[in-house]
Amino acid sequence: MTKNNILTKMKMPFCQGCGHGIIVRSIAKALEQLGYGKNDTIIVSDIGCSGLVDPLFDTHSIHGLHGRAPALGVGVSLGLDNPNKKVIVIQGDGGVTIGLQHVLEAARRNIDITLVVMNNLLYGMTGGQISGLSTQKFKEQRHFEVDVPPFDIVKLAHVSGAAYSARATSIKTYTDVMKDAIEVNGFSIVEFSSLCTSYAFKKLDQLQEVIEPPEVFKNERIPVRVHHRDTKSLFDKLDVIDKHFDSKIDSRLGVILAGSAGGGVQSAAKMLATAGMLSGLHATMKGEYPVTVGTGFSVAEVILSRSYVNYTGLEKPDVVIIVSEDGLNKIKGKIKDNDILIIDSSLKTDDFPDAIYVDFNRKAGKRGAALAALAYWMKKSGLMDIESLKKAVSSHKYSRILLDAINAGLEI
Ligand code: SF4
Ligand SMILES: [Mg+2]
Repeated sequence: MTKNNILTKMKMPFCQGCGHGIIVRSIAKALEQLGYGKNDTIIVSDIGCSGLVDPLFDTHSIHGLHGRAPALGVGVSLGLDNPNKKVIVIQGDGGVTIGLQHVLEAARRNIDITLVVMNNLLYGMTGGQISGLSTQKFKEQRHFEVDVPPFDIVKLAHVSGAAYSARATSIKTYTDVMKDAIEVNGFSIVEFSSLCTSYAFKKLDQLQEVIEPPEVFKNERIPVRVHHRDTKSLFDKLDVIDKHFDSKIDSRLGVILAGSAGGGVQSAAKMLATAGMLSGLHATMKGEYPVTVGTGFSVAEVILSRSYVNYTGLEKPDVVIIVSEDGLNKIKGKIKDNDILIIDSSLKTDDFPDAIYVDFNRKAGKRGAALAALAYWMKKSGLMDIESLKKAVSSHKYSRILLDAINAGLEI
């Protein structure tokens, strides 16, 4: 393990006087004092004010959905081969009670993560609403939960099997308690008291009067680890895509491909994005389809660009390709003065007199129409080498069928 500064130089993003900053510094101090470096630490954050921590840590970090950070952290921990790496999950009291089951499962299985709960007794980011850890001693308690006590997250984790569960209420102890938690081989949780200066002050006079006393519980347990993994990781399974072809796309090009579910729209778009990368371009792809399987529209957006694609939205596509009525109905509102509009002949309409109408469905069949239309556009525009599309489909398990569709498009 190397010793590095765990925090970046970024200013704390919290309101003035907010207790979260002290907790962030205590986590960093504990890691540094134990010899963890920036590459030894994976911070997993949740949603809310506590979720603003990612850019503060100069470590690996992942930002999760509300309440789901412990599940993410468990996945990271089980996937790590290196026991010297430390996974620290950070949540607020809102997140920890939204995703309580994830916490209990991680504790029950004694997965090797440290969960930090920044408990400011309320939902800070959304205006001070009460959470599952809010105190009953708040002034002006106007909620029906007035007679319902808060969860005791520390005891809950303990009885669920956590190796170490603690509540820290005095900032003088924060770093030491955090160090104890980090050093545990298994699931550890620390609930830190934090003061929300923006909302909690309206509900209480003194934080010390409403917070529960400090506590520490331990279970002597062996942590769960994954000993044998016989499946490769997603990254291992994927081939590295190198530049093999040239492209005349000199800046950024947006393509919309619209058809029906089961018509190969998404895989055709993926092939286009792959062909783009094989041509040395940056590529993004976004798919949209209804939750129903095999019916309704299927729309895909592909952006090919010489520079990084920082925004993946496609407000004005340059090329629109439509191969079925479902696709036409879904995106016709987006069709304005597009550079190129290519539509299957079966959908001919006076609405788009400048469109190019081609018989893709008849030539390549319903499942091949989208890819045939892409091949047709690539050949007609001359912007990309058609061989890039052929190479993109070559490693697909149905490469023969896909190649037939490409050839059908080229013969038109
Ligand atoms: S709203 Fe409250 S918890 Fe959120 S940053 Fe401000 S003081 Fe801190
Ligand atoms: Mg909170």
